[in-house]
Amino acid sequence: MNDDYVRTPPGRQPTPVTDGLPIARRKLSHEVLDRLLPRIRSGEFPVGSLLPSERDIMANLGVGRPAVREALQTLERMGVVGIVHGEGARVLPLSANTVISQISDAAMHLLSGSSDLLEQLKEARLQFEVAMIRTAAQRATPEQIEHLRALLEDHKSSLEDSQRFLVTDMAFHRGIAEISGNAIYKAVSQAMLEWLEQFHHEAVRAPGAEKTSLNEHIKMFKCIEAHDPDGAAKTLIAHLKRANKHYAPHTEPKAAAPVRRRTK
Ligand SMILES: [Zn+2]
Repeated sequence: MNDDYVRTPPGRQPTPVTDGLPIARRKLSHEVLDRLLPRIRSGEFPVGSLLPSERDIMANLGVGRPAVREALQTLERMGVVGIVHGEGARVLPLSANTVISQISDAAMHLLSGSSDLLEQLKEARLQFEVAMIRTAAQRATPEQIEHLRALLEDHKSSLEDSQRFLVTDMAFHRGIAEISGNAIYKAVSQAMLEWLEQFHHEAVRAPGAEKTSLNEHIKMFKCIEAHDPDGAAKTLIAHLKRANKHYAPHTEPKAAAPVRRRTK
């Protein structure tokens, strides 16, 4: 008998199974989670507040400490609460970013094992970024254009510093994502870029690539400023297709023939 699983309350018969599908036994901690999450969602425990203590939850739900602890740890992994020893579980602000970052470790693990998936990620990112820059070119307000201009100036000034050049490059792309005003766009685009960055090969960077890249950024900016979605999309596609060559798996499959050399 495993105490960790939900038992049928005394005096009640289990619901008869009518469709032939077995009913999954759920862990007790999942039940605890199901009780806590709606209370957090409803605002009963707002951001910044403490959840009841382990002891209170145990008493309140009639479950043991392991189930409560596991449920709280799950909430922590979800980014819903932060657990501080001696203090308890405090409700954290949840954003599209924190939600997406929850899957990052798994995504990177998955990608490192499959070059097909890496190619699919590049393709997905391309389509996604194209949709985003089109939106930006259609919607950008004068203030947003000025902000993007400032990011571009910062990028220009970092041409001689390859580390800062990369940082300001990413900031420029984030600036484009921000114009959409869509938090999901922003978070997904950021995540896809971070996943790809894991596979960035410095060694294959072609000489003069930074100048080319900067010119493409300038062209993108001009298209956004002129509210030209087609021009912006065209420039971005060329830019990303070129950049995509710099992302490759870190290790070739074991049985593979000689290491493929990239010439561009
Ligand atoms: Zn770029």
